[in-house]
Amino acid sequence: MATVELKGLGQRFGASAVVEGVDLSIADGEFMVLLGPSGCGKSTTLRMIAGLETISEGEVMIDGRKVNDVAAKDRDIAMVFQSYALYPHMNVRDNLAFGLRRRRISPAEIERRVAKAALSLGLEPYLERRPSALSGGQRQRVAVGRAIVRDPKVFLFDEPLSNLDASLRVNMRGELSTLHQRLAATMIYVTHDQVEAMTMGSRICIMKDGHVMQVGAPMAVYREPQNAFVAGFLGSPPMNLIPAEIIAAGERSELRIAETRLRLETALKPGAVTLGIRPEELALDAGATSLGAITGTVSSIEQLGAETIVTLTLPEGLIRARLDNRCKLTLGEPLALHVEAGTLHFFDRATGQLVGRA
Ligand code: ADP
Ligand code: MG
Repeated sequence: MATVELKGLGQRFGASAVVEGVDLSIADGEFMVLLGPSGCGKSTTLRMIAGLETISEGEVMIDGRKVNDVAAKDRDIAMVFQSYALYPHMNVRDNLAFGLRRRRISPAEIERRVAKAALSLGLEPYLERRPSALSGGQRQRVAVGRAIVRDPKVFLFDEPLSNLDASLRVNMRGELSTLHQRLAATMIYVTHDQVEAMTMGSRICIMKDGHVMQVGAPMAVYREPQNAFVAGFLGSPPMNLIPAEIIAAGERSELRIAETRLRLETALKPGAVTLGIRPEELALDAGATSLGAITGTVSSIEQLGAETIVTLTLPEGLIRARLDNRCKLTLGEPLALHVEAGTLHFFDRATGQLVGRA
């Protein structure tokens, strides 16, 4: 069991900084997800924690001890890679045992640990098989098993599910969450998949261009994004982000979105903003706290079964709503989507930072 702390962590490759000023405290037993688009520095951050990459700036602390100069093999960390990195010429049993044999652990203890991991991962029937005779999901389990037998202080995962097909990915998500609960171990999990992050993380650290954009519990970052990047990265479809203007109008401000005006409940600083509103917050009917409706032309209707995603075209962009599957819509017709108080987020047009909510 261990805490992991990153202090001002940075990495440069040549002239360019690919990770910069990353501060993050991971509690003992936490499942921390590093989430962000490809190339934002997630793997580099993980590799610095593992000791597979030298640290250009800042510190990595494990259980309060600075480990910048501690070799990877002495950090008591186990890492599971996207590629699984299994030994093709060894059977599952030997793949599981290999790392332990190198550590000069007694054969009886190795056998005990391998048997326990194989049991908990459902690998017992496959112990004599080579990786080439396993399915993708089984190989993935072997890779996880190899980490478990080490009984490390910290588990690191780098996109471990991205080579699996969709249904297997859903199963493995559940299995990894169960494993985390059972082992009560500290885990750091890298993914670009927001669904994995939302469903598995105790907390999510969202990264962009080598910087941390926000850290928090999944529903907290979903409900209260601190910047337009986080708002637009989470959710499927993500939060709508459209240009709008806050206008002074006596004691209560108005919000202008193309031809639409919404009357806000309070006065906000006037000016150009990016309006953020989640697709599920828009409705065909006005509720008790309606601020008015945004109108546009229906330009796409996606029937997903349980729900319907409708896209409205406005003069200033597109806005999507997640509606009931029984709603009757016609392409090319005008439609009004009602907005309730408490659902609006305003971001600075230039910096993307949250400047208000209404
Ligand atoms: P992620 O895992 O979020 O997709 P990475 O951490 O792998 O991102 O990479 C971050 C950036 O650093 C990318 O632009 C990548 O091309 C660059 N990068 C990674 N490793 C190296 C390296 N060894 N040399 C130069 N650039 C690298
Ligand atoms: Mg990566």
